[in-house]
Amino acid sequence: MSTYKLQCPHCHSAVRIRTSVGQHAYLRATYMQCINIACSASWVGRFEFTHELSPPGQPNPQMRLPEAPSAMRRSAKVHEQNTEETLDLFAHE
Ligand SMILES: [Zn+2]
Repeated sequence: MSTYKLQCPHCHSAVRIRTSVGQHAYLRATYMQCINIACSASWVGRFEFTHELSPPGQPNPQMRLPEAPSAMRRSAKVHEQNTEETLDLFAHE
């Protein structure tokens, strides 16, 4: 379970990922809930892989995504430098 950087848009408490279900190799439906008991809002959303930032070392030719444009690569580099921990979005309770 992780609450990293997910924030309830109503009460601004952390949001936990309750579970996620694979829809495709690049897509997961994700069930989330606000940890504030007085709020307890819940959502379903999705996490999707959209572009490759670097090519895979062991590519599956049937599983290719478009290469990220240069602006997206620069943005990813800035975010990597500012990230202090690795997030496991798909951890289960
Ligand atoms: Zn909330």
